[in-house]
Amino acid sequence: MLLSMQRRQLNLSLDLELLDGELQGRCHDGNGGDHRFSGWLGLIGAIDSLVTDDGRNPMLISQSSRFAELQSRIDGQVLVAGDDAWDASRQTFNLTHDQQPAAIVRVASAEDVAEAVRFAAEHGMRVAPQSTGHNAGPIEALEDALLVRTDDLQEISIDVAARRARVGSGVRWAEVADRASAVGLAPLSGSSRDVGITGYSLGGGMGWLARKHGLQTNALTAVEIVTADGELRRIDHDNETDLFWAVRGGGGNYGVVTALEFELFPAPEIYAGSLFFPYERAREVMHAWHEFVSAGLPDEITTVARVMQFPPMEEIPEMVRGKSFTILQAAYLGSEADGAELLRPLTDLGPDMNTFAMVEPAALGHLAMDPEQPMPYADSSRMLSNLSAAGIDAFLDTAGPGSGSQLANVELRSLGGALARRAPGAGARATLDGDYLLFAVGGVFTPDAYDEVARQAESVSQALTPWDSGTRYLNFEGGDVDAQVFFDADSWRLLRALRDHWDPKGLFLANHEIKES
Ligand SMILES: Cc1cc2nc3c(=O)[nH]c(=O)nc-3n(C[C@H](O)[C@H](O)[C@H](O)COP(=O)(O)OP(=O)(O)OC[C@H]3O[C@@H](n4cnc5c(N)ncnc54)[C@H](O)[C@@H]3O)c2cc1C
Repeated sequence: MLLSMQRRQLNLSLDLELLDGELQGRCHDGNGGDHRFSGWLGLIGAIDSLVTDDGRNPMLISQSSRFAELQSRIDGQVLVAGDDAWDASRQTFNLTHDQQPAAIVRVASAEDVAEAVRFAAEHGMRVAPQSTGHNAGPIEALEDALLVRTDDLQEISIDVAARRARVGSGVRWAEVADRASAVGLAPLSGSSRDVGITGYSLGGGMGWLARKHGLQTNALTAVEIVTADGELRRIDHDNETDLFWAVRGGGGNYGVVTALEFELFPAPEIYAGSLFFPYERAREVMHAWHEFVSAGLPDEITTVARVMQFPPMEEIPEMVRGKSFTILQAAYLGSEADGAELLRPLTDLGPDMNTFAMVEPAALGHLAMDPEQPMPYADSSRMLSNLSAAGIDAFLDTAGPGSGSQLANVELRSLGGALARRAPGAGARATLDGDYLLFAVGGVFTPDAYDEVARQAESVSQALTPWDSGTRYLNFEGGDVDAQVFFDADSWRLLRALRDHWDPKGLFLANHEIKES
């Protein structure tokens, strides 16, 4: 296959082929530059090496000197294209995205963040805050932006008596979940241990304890943030309360977060697990689950139903590799006996495998079997209300057996409980309004497969349009949509007004930007 592309005024051509499932190829620049590569990352690296081969590319030299002043002002690292750590630092979790900022600032401290923000403001650049790159897809063009990566802000402390955690803004959920779990506490983390606490928390944060304890964003007790004026502020329920409200749902639109503090919840053990059914039983099992949820459940239980088609990849555990299943999962904050009784309508269906047991809270991070290594994929998501049995049929007609779907995972998370109640003192993302959260995702294992996988993922969302709640969930939105769709009208107006107040020149470039439509 021959693919031509233009990048930074250079004409590159690529020869690509799949050898034993692995992407292989060569990249030429038409001036004698020629690089072989294998895998997605190799492809990106090869393109970069041709574009930025130092000595031959004058743009590189001018880029380095352009940021030399910033480098002299910080302890962290300023990277431009061609630097050794460039590719690793700009890598996103979804490998179909190719971030090309003007420069990357790997900050070593909150002071570094403040210097980077001031430098950008002085030089008419924008600042894109990022901690892990798990939701980099929606970010607009970064050519004139500093990508401020907070990965290296790795402070963690847990105050067991106060049930509070404090983390630097580069920390991922695994570190906190493990430490908290060891002392009988659970954070409101989500399905993946690898996701960054900062983006997850600022966008909402819906996990296995959500129907009981709500969204992680409303468990935040303090945020340390560098605002557009270059000042580091500690904001909480008593200080800069308007800004504290806005960041809890408004994401990275208001500054670069350097640290977060949040509540942990007592949970020495949780009754949790999966019921694995044959993929072919999806219709019967999904309908039974829908009736189970519709009958009304205590807030203590959060459940998910999914159809999964595991790709035949070595990284996937052998037990499920290359196989397809219908899977029901739940986490229940209560005893084993009560949990087993509550789940009886589902276990009576006779699953092939039942993994329910009392587990420590950290085990919840493995329940969904989310990938922890970056991979190329396309996804789609919707919030659903009043989902009827016909909605379950629509789900299965596009994602179930016989539909032709190749999507790896299509799931419905049950909402309600604390997610539907506006708690006193909540932030801009007070609730998740809907009964179910739909998420569809498929791996893109060859570049030309992207359109078809994206089409399949979107077709599930489209099929469920009659039950679309009309809002979307920011954290699950991998594409570029108008951010207004995430909020009710009053919250949107206030978020816009606060953006104008705290960031009047639109310095910050968030994944989902709060700006005039
Ligand atoms: C495998 C997987 C599983 C997931 N599971 C769940 C789940 O169960 N529940 C759920 O709610 N979500 C889930 N998500 C979505 C996840 O919450 C979002 O992708 C979230 O944005 C990730 O945050 P991050 O910091 O890791 O990502 P990043 O891409 O680093 O950040 C995303 C955005 O957050 C903001 N941000 C990040 N760091 C900073 C900072 N230091 N200062 C200011 N703003 C910042 C920026 O706007 C940035 O664009 C999942 C995502 C993946 C890929």
